[in-house]
Amino acid sequence: MEFSLIDRIRNLTAQHRDDVRLGIGDDAALLTVPTGQELAVAIDTIVEGVHFPVGTDAADIGWKALAVNLSDLAAMGATPAWALLALTLPSADSAFVDGFAAGFAQLAQTYRLALVGGDTTRGALTISVAVHGFVPPGKALARAGAQAGDAVLVTGTLGDAAGGLRCVQNYRHSDDAQTRYLIERLNRPTPRVAAGLALRGRASACIDVSDGLLADLGHVCAASRVGAELDAALLPRSSALLDLFDESTSRDFALSGGDDYELCFTVPAQQVAAVQADLAKLGCGATRIGRAVEGEGITVRDRDGHPLASRRPGWDHFNA
Ligand code: ADP
Ligand code: MG
Repeated sequence: MEFSLIDRIRNLTAQHRDDVRLGIGDDAALLTVPTGQELAVAIDTIVEGVHFPVGTDAADIGWKALAVNLSDLAAMGATPAWALLALTLPSADSAFVDGFAAGFAQLAQTYRLALVGGDTTRGALTISVAVHGFVPPGKALARAGAQAGDAVLVTGTLGDAAGGLRCVQNYRHSDDAQTRYLIERLNRPTPRVAAGLALRGRASACIDVSDGLLADLGHVCAASRVGAELDAALLPRSSALLDLFDESTSRDFALSGGDDYELCFTVPAQQVAAVQADLAKLGCGATRIGRAVEGEGITVRDRDGHPLASRRPGWDHFNA
């Protein structure tokens, strides 16, 4: 049974690449890293009931398992190439596996990413994906590197996934287009791979927003030994989020909600306009939300310039 599941996955995700000398089917895959490139590798696990609601569609789970990992490559400015998939399933459910593989493959095709191996075991529904990508030496986007005075920007909009989760929790599934939009943002996040590539050599620091803006920008600040000042009025929020939630709820979602998978990055102030013009061409756009400052910690100011009371910084699995 395990083997027929693996065959289904292999068939549904088939993607030819010249740099895959041996893919699924042997004891290990054999891969050729292009000459003169560094290998960027990352792994992320998603667990039912923790990272996606119980009852999420199999294809959405497949998409999201890969998307959260591609988001890490995007945040490094790496070009995706290969993935490994460790699948833990409660039962040998071939319908689930087919749906999962279809969602995974749909996103993988966009990047010609090849699934080159994995592992299949029985247990509570848990999916680990490891991704591998290429980046020219010295060009990766690190968390360290932001300088006081740099502008802080974020791609796309923030808080949509938290809004979508609230809708799911309230059993608002497809009442209207806005609810569907937010739930789609939760279940099918768009990894900002092209934006990450465009930021190579330009962003002084970069991270993907998986645990909430304050938590993730906090990591950039700590690694870069700077603080940040954000202007709450500038936080980019979708019209769906603003229409379905009141101002303070949507602001909290944008500051502390997880699962958006946008990029938060810093650039020298004089380069903001050029970077924004380039990211606008890629469709996601980027909004300036504040600046890096001397010191430490993040201050968020309201419309009148008053600091907002500090709040839950973001999601911490061991501190929930
Ligand atoms: P082994 O016992 O040598 O680890 P497995 O039976 O676990 O071999 O896997 C057989 C082949 O199928 C290997 O090439 C492995 O990488 C691949 N594989 C197993 N599970 C998956 C999966 N969920 N997705 C992709 N490839 C898989
Ligand atoms: Mg194995």
